[in-house]
Amino acid sequence: MAHSIETKCLHLDKREGTCDTSGAISFPIYQSATFAHVGLGKSTGYDYSRLQNPTREQLEKVVANLEGGIDAVAFSSGMAAISAVMELFQPGDQLIVDEDLYGGSVRLFLNISKKNGIEITRVNLCEEEIEPYITERTKAVYLETPTNPMMNVIDIQKVSKAAKKHNLLLIVDNTFLSPYFQNPLKLGADIVVHSGTKYLGGHNDTLAGFTVTADEKIAERIRYIFKTTGAGLAPLDSWLIIRGIKTLAVRLERAQENAGKLAEWLKGRPEVVRVIYPGLPEHPGHSTMKKQASGFGAMLTFEVSSKELVQQTLENVKVIQFAESLGGVETLITYPITQTHADVPPEMLAKNGINDRVLRLSVGIENIDDLINDLEQAFSRE
Ligand SMILES: *Cc1c(COP(=O)(O)O)cnc(C)c1O
Repeated sequence: MAHSIETKCLHLDKREGTCDTSGAISFPIYQSATFAHVGLGKSTGYDYSRLQNPTREQLEKVVANLEGGIDAVAFSSGMAAISAVMELFQPGDQLIVDEDLYGGSVRLFLNISKKNGIEITRVNLCEEEIEPYITERTKAVYLETPTNPMMNVIDIQKVSKAAKKHNLLLIVDNTFLSPYFQNPLKLGADIVVHSGTKYLGGHNDTLAGFTVTADEKIAERIRYIFKTTGAGLAPLDSWLIIRGIKTLAVRLERAQENAGKLAEWLKGRPEVVRVIYPGLPEHPGHSTMKKQASGFGAMLTFEVSSKELVQQTLENVKVIQFAESLGGVETLITYPITQTHADVPPEMLAKNGINDRVLRLSVGIENIDDLINDLEQAFSRE
């Protein structure tokens, strides 16, 4: 019988196949680049760590199990994972990608993938159908939900149905909710990608990335790209992510509870003109998210009444830290227009409603009163 998700964070559904026989509760760090052969034409299953390493393999099993996939691959960063996925495509192929994506992915698609002959068509998948944009060269659809930082929610099942009808791959970046709250493969996605740097690692200390799939052919092709291009996660970093995942469920429950309370508090503040959190019933994506995810996550975006208030808030928060990234135990505040979205074209920012008064919070697991008091004192400074 399969475990429930909290247990899957700590224990694999099937324990056989693990190379460690010592009984260690914490999986060992196999800090070895190469492995001895037991005979001519014989292998322990491990030959060279670019291809496979026991610690990385253990992490991959945990992530595949959490996402309901047959194979997960652990990369040195989220961008390394997404870059490897882009190697599935040929010059002349076209991809339909959502308009509101992580800035690094936009940079990859518009500068590197385009140079490699892959045509990128950007569509607002939250509001538009994919059909009018499909040509005979279209190969895949790529999206995030909820999106960064405007928390637009895309109906994964709906996009998946249209993609399947036209034989397109559906690729979903599930970083913002993590497998604890959302499993895109179960909703019809073919490939899930993650920045493991965020919720999976959870402590703002390690970069990592993942691809996960439930399709054998895709798994084989990604493994081939992986072993050839060589951006595998190091043994120590693999161990840190294994450790981070052990507390994924409790961290996310607490962070989500804090985010809901902060959203309500921000709504009542005169300095704040708009609060965007999918857990609020008035959020346009609320019901879709209720249908496809088991939670609303801990990312929230808000707009203050002036640009001066942005600077004042960023410079006066004390518990909350002004830093890029998200998904860790510490609460971070980000200014998308100069940080995560600095490379996104201005017309795209305007279209998405990202202006110079928008701030994003990655809510952590601190005491909620300390977070509220911190924002209150930052707002009321002269
Ligand atoms: C951070 C992030 C990435 C990139 O991951 P890195 O680990 O920083 O390379 C991709 N997608 C989303 C949604 C992210 O937040």
